[in-house]
Amino acid sequence: MSFSPFHLVDGDPAKGLVLLADHARRDLPSAYGSLGLSPEEFERHIAYDIGVEQLTRTLSAMLGAPAVLGGFSRLLIDPNRGEDDPTLIMRLSDGAIVPGNNPMPSDEREKRLNQFYRPYHGAIAQTIEAVTTASGKAPLVISIHSFTPFWKSTPRPWHAGILWDKDPRAVRPIIEGLRADPHLIVGDNEPYDGALRNDTMFQHCIVPGLAHALIEVRQDLIAAQVGIEQWAKRLAPILEAINADPDMHVARQFGSRTGPIEAANTMDKENRA
Ligand SMILES: [Zn+2]
Repeated sequence: MSFSPFHLVDGDPAKGLVLLADHARRDLPSAYGSLGLSPEEFERHIAYDIGVEQLTRTLSAMLGAPAVLGGFSRLLIDPNRGEDDPTLIMRLSDGAIVPGNNPMPSDEREKRLNQFYRPYHGAIAQTIEAVTTASGKAPLVISIHSFTPFWKSTPRPWHAGILWDKDPRAVRPIIEGLRADPHLIVGDNEPYDGALRNDTMFQHCIVPGLAHALIEVRQDLIAAQVGIEQWAKRLAPILEAINADPDMHVARQFGSRTGPIEAANTMDKENRA
């Protein structure tokens, strides 16, 4: 398949639901080779979120909702960071120095923003706009990620984690829905805190006030087809029920633990000027 900075998965925009997968792919345009890393590094989680593309595609098919998949490895540029975030382009990732990112001249950084990052975010904005128009209401946005079963040598106990900042609308019922299965350990802002200034949820949901949640599934559970289907079957009815709640389809500001939203808008405008 030829390289594209994003991939759209068809769905019915009138459903009022948008699925996102920032780290779905480990692809790089051929000009970048493997960023000076050995090809094996691209089998690893540092290049992408294992299992997420297939989980998102399966959920999209089950729910009939459109999805936007990031088309490039996060080693090239991380779509789930603000343009001003120091970890936007990683010099070092989980012990591996990324030669293709050292040094990182500002013109190369700007090129990666223009060729990869901004087209992906543009596709998200367009999909949200199309779904808003077709459904006649504010969409619910669900972002899918996966995390490693170990951090250094410490095992992570959670099967899944729901990450969020301040809008609890979609988050609470997803956590409750998953915890209804007593075998599941479900993290609430674990293994990471979901409040990240200018990340994908911040840009597309927190600023405009769209209901949203970021779902992290442990990678070993969705590394094979059987687990992907199991997790899709587990998540689809929960998401379907939440999407049927009218409260998910009203734009409402909850603010951010990272600081005032107004300051973000002003800063973004200054950055663009
Ligand atoms: Zn991710």
